[in-house]
Amino acid sequence: MDIRAVIVSILIGLITAAIGELLGISERISPVDTGILNNILVRGTVVFVILALVIYVLLSLMIKRRDKLRSENAPVVFTAKQRPQKIIDKIKIKKFGVKWEGLYGTRRDLPTSGVDDAYVYVDGPYCPKDDTKLKSRTVPKWFVFEENTWVCPHCGSSHSRPTTHYLDEDSVVEDELERIFQQRHD
Ligand SMILES: [Zn+2]
Repeated sequence: MDIRAVIVSILIGLITAAIGELLGISERISPVDTGILNNILVRGTVVFVILALVIYVLLSLMIKRRDKLRSENAPVVFTAKQRPQKIIDKIKIKKFGVKWEGLYGTRRDLPTSGVDDAYVYVDGPYCPKDDTKLKSRTVPKWFVFEENTWVCPHCGSSHSRPTTHYLDEDSVVEDELERIFQQRHD
């Protein structure tokens, strides 16, 4: 069962109770004196907490929707780069808390192909502890939020993916590697 659905239904119940409290309906409905809830401070706090919860849930839903839209609108790479066959240079860098390997080379091992035809190929991300290739996972956070992470299948460590470059991390790494390789080979 979806825990979020349960939380949302509990919240709706609380909101209904809060509105009832605010309007003083519950006093009329219930013959029992509400006692503590008659206190304006207590009542104000209850309403404030409930409002905060509502805003929290709405925000989390908005973030989830944004992430979903973002993944749907992510550019589809038609010309997926192939691993270069003739490798001129390689480098390992750390970015977004994980390891990446950059290969600099050309497609075919021909004598004519030189640095001019070379391109950057990004491999990764890899676990910073044991160099295992990481898997992408969405893990729940604070009940309603979801966090996009990379998880290591070997040691189980998890690494948060950056929110600003989510799904686009490798192109950021590629830009950085391109600068490094160009400095080395120009
Ligand atoms: Zn690991």
